[in-house]
Amino acid sequence: MTANLTVKSIVDLVRSGKQTPTQLAAAYLDRTRSIAQKLNSHLHLDEAAALSEALAAEKRIHEIGAHRLPLAGVPVLVKDNICVRGSKTTCGSKILENYVATYDATVIKRLREAGAFVLGKLNMDEFAMGSSNENSAFGPVRNPWNLNYVPGGSSGGSAASVAARLAPVALGSDTGGSIRQPASFCGIVGLKPTYGTVSRFGLVAFGSSLDQIGPLTTTVEDAALVMDVLAGLDASDSTSVQHPQSDFARGLSENPDALKGMTVGIPEEFFESGLDSEVGACLERAIADVQRAGAKIKRVRLPNISYSVAAYYVIATAEASANLARFDGIRYGYRTKEAGLGLKDLYRKTRSEGFGQEVKQRIMLGTFVLSSGYYDAFYSKANKVRELISRDFDAVFDSGVDLILTPTSPTPPFKLGEKLSDPLAMYLSDICTIGVNLAGLPAISVPCGRTKAGLPVGMQLIAPKFNEQTLLNGAHAYERATEWHKDQPAI
Ligand code: GLN
Repeated sequence: MTANLTVKSIVDLVRSGKQTPTQLAAAYLDRTRSIAQKLNSHLHLDEAAALSEALAAEKRIHEIGAHRLPLAGVPVLVKDNICVRGSKTTCGSKILENYVATYDATVIKRLREAGAFVLGKLNMDEFAMGSSNENSAFGPVRNPWNLNYVPGGSSGGSAASVAARLAPVALGSDTGGSIRQPASFCGIVGLKPTYGTVSRFGLVAFGSSLDQIGPLTTTVEDAALVMDVLAGLDASDSTSVQHPQSDFARGLSENPDALKGMTVGIPEEFFESGLDSEVGACLERAIADVQRAGAKIKRVRLPNISYSVAAYYVIATAEASANLARFDGIRYGYRTKEAGLGLKDLYRKTRSEGFGQEVKQRIMLGTFVLSSGYYDAFYSKANKVRELISRDFDAVFDSGVDLILTPTSPTPPFKLGEKLSDPLAMYLSDICTIGVNLAGLPAISVPCGRTKAGLPVGMQLIAPKFNEQTLLNGAHAYERATEWHKDQPAI
């Protein structure tokens, strides 16, 4: 039953009294038991806790009425860097292996208030650093379309679970592509909102000026429904703002053919060298579909975009090195078992044992680029490049472009282990997504084809700041004109 349910259809079933949250929870748990193990998608699946969450949603529905709860009875899976009170929040790291969150993230509160409930917590690259989910301390996640391939990262557990229909929606976080790239690798929809749209309170910080929480779903309409609940000002996050648009789902239904009359910009830089030929072919067909749906196509340029990966790996690592300083074995998380150490040695030993290779590499890189004497040469310079990239996007949008269209990833999903020995090749898999985070823009990945081997390919749409409505409308119109979102892996 659960294999065909969307957020929208679940809300309808609950409102009509055909399903209760506890029935839905039981059905999803049933499906999860057999599939999650194959995917290694889940870090914490506490069935009793999930059922009592569902029961709480049921009570809320009785009290308030399903019609007044926009996500009545919707089960949600949560990336394990988002705090759910009383549940472990490991960030895919040994250093937080036994850390139990003492409070709920704002997004969790908002979802529950809307009638949704938490079903479980998902695997991810350690501290959200990675593009393949192979950096998890708890083993890699596998792609449900082919278990020998990666699901993308860092929200790999989120993307694999939603693609395998273990929940209609999962939360992910996106610092440089971590919602969109795995969504593209798993053939589903992933939305990274405008920076500031969704509260980061209760999200374990990686790169604070880049991080955003967003939904992974199987349809654009579901992304809109969930965004209606997630978006909003939060006094607990000083970077959050009140979004000027308020009803994304209604906006979609009012404008189903939104691509008609839009101008869609195609940045040459993403279609030149380095693009896999099968991905390129899928994108060419997608551009033709977008045009057929009524959009005008305009070739544009983002002259500084080729510096985005370099700037990102200075800025994100700098911020990570500061954010991760708190994991010292004193306040929370893992502490080395070695006895009799002085304070400095305790820090060193704890962090050496608790963090994985990629995280250590980034802390060292980030500490280096912030160090006196190198700060101007690296960190300040990267911030200037960031500004230039922002202006490139502004210039394109100012020239009358409504949406920018690119591949989400330059390659299709790759095999487990394929890029592990080459961190640069791994970093380059985010070349299409990172600029969006540097500029703070909203972007979405939607499925747009499959390779000969049957692996999903995604298309990215990018909008001006706080133009989520245009973004969702454009993606929705594309989805209505194509069938790719209907494909499901045969797991
Ligand atoms: N893959 C990128 C990285 O490794 C982006 C990760 C993310 O968005 N969290 O940093």
